[in-house]
Amino acid sequence: MKYCFGVDIGGTTVKMGLFEKTGEILDKWEIVSKTENEGEAVLPDIAESIKGKIQERGLEEADIVGIGVGVPAPVTADGVVNGSANIGWGYKDVKGELEGLTGLPTEVGNDANVAALGEMWQGGGEGETNIVMVTLGTGVGGGVIIGGKVVVGTHGAGGEIGHLCVNYDETEICGCGNKGCLEQYASATGIVRLARKKLAAETRKTVLQAENVTAKDVFDAVKAGDTVAQEVAEEFGRFLGYCLANLAIVTDPAVIVIGGGVSRAGEVLIPYIQKPFLEKAFFANKDVEFKLATLGNDAGICGAAKLILDERG
Ligand SMILES: [Zn+2]
Repeated sequence: MKYCFGVDIGGTTVKMGLFEKTGEILDKWEIVSKTENEGEAVLPDIAESIKGKIQERGLEEADIVGIGVGVPAPVTADGVVNGSANIGWGYKDVKGELEGLTGLPTEVGNDANVAALGEMWQGGGEGETNIVMVTLGTGVGGGVIIGGKVVVGTHGAGGEIGHLCVNYDETEICGCGNKGCLEQYASATGIVRLARKKLAAETRKTVLQAENVTAKDVFDAVKAGDTVAQEVAEEFGRFLGYCLANLAIVTDPAVIVIGGGVSRAGEVLIPYIQKPFLEKAFFANKDVEFKLATLGNDAGICGAAKLILDERG
C-alpha cells in the first residue's frame, strides 16, 4: 500500500490530492461542487474523479490505502453528517456512500479539524502532537488535536472554537443563532464589523474608510503605522487572545497555529494575539508557541490524507 487520496469538500469546489504514504503530494486537482438537488451529485462526482485518476495513473487498487475526506459540517466519528448548509445535505452517511461508490476504505472529518491535522503533520504544528488551530476566514473554524488525535466529540462538534462566547453583552446574532461568539470579532467579517464601529465614532485621521473596509485593509494600515487600524487590531487580538488563553487551560497545547485568509497578514498578527493571551494565560500555559499556518489551501487535502493513513496506513 503506497498511496492515498485526500479530499476537501467546499461549497464551490472539491479539492483533491493523490499522496504518497510519506506525505508527498503527487497530484492535485479540483472539481466543481454541484450543490443543487441537495448536493446529491457531490459524492458520485468525487468517486468518478478518483476512479478516473486511478486509471489515468495506472495505479493498482491494492496499492491504495483509502480516501480521507474533510466536510464543512460537524461529522460524527463514524463518518455521518447531519446537515451541511454549504453542500445542501441533510442526513448523509458520507463514509458509507463513498466506500460503496469506490470500494475503497474512507474516513471522514470536519474540514477545520482535518486542516488542523494537516498543519500538525506538515505545517505550522509539525513535530507536535498537542496543537490548537484557529482558522480565521469568513467565519472562525478550529481544530483541537491532543495526543495526535483530533477531538471529534459526541456530535462531531469538538473544536468549534468560533462559537465560544467571548462577549456576554453582545446584542447582534451570530450565524449559529447565539450572541457574542468569537466569530463575530475575529473572523474577516468580524474585523470589518469592529473597524466600522470604531470608524463611526472616530475623529482622528486614518486611511480606513468605513464603507468598503476589509480585514486586509486593516492589517495593511497596521503595517503602515495607522493608529486607528492598530487599535482595531488590538481589539480583535484581545477577543482572540483572551479566548485562546481559556482554551489553553482545557487543552494545554504546545503550539497554537493561526490560519485562514486573515493569517495572510503575516507575522504582524502574532503579537496582537500573543500579548493579550499572556495577560490571561494560566501560569503553566505561558510558553505556548504561536505560529502561522504554512499549508494554505493544501491543509485540507493534506489533513484528509493523514486522517485515512492514521486509520488504515
Ligand atoms: Zn456562533
